[in-house]
Amino acid sequence: MHELSIAQSLLDIIVDESQRHRLGRVDKVRLRIGELAAVVPESLRFCFDLVSRDTVAGGAVIEIETVAVAARCDKCDLSFEVKERVFQCPQCGEPVFEMLGGRELEVVNIEGETGGEDG
Ligand SMILES: [Zn+2]
Repeated sequence: MHELSIAQSLLDIIVDESQRHRLGRVDKVRLRIGELAAVVPESLRFCFDLVSRDTVAGGAVIEIETVAVAARCDKCDLSFEVKERVFQCPQCGEPVFEMLGGRELEVVNIEGETGGEDG
């Protein structure tokens, strides 16, 4: 499953970050995911729950911000947002191949508690 390997690599980043910030527990993780990354937020949450069990990020709330796909037309140089996966210039009708964004898959920030035992 696609989302499982993504969840695993996100967890690696989160564990790294939490060590850097000396977090004893991660409460909330904010992710930015491009529409072209083809990630189903619900599956990602489910997979993340599985892989993060018994880690510092176990039970953390995952907030997902979806980033729209942007593209640029070769012919008329118009930059626009791709809606409903129609990869065509809205101005001149040319098919577009140059994507400016939409494949993002990153951890924006992590919130948690520093050190110590907590319940
Ligand atoms: Zn165009």
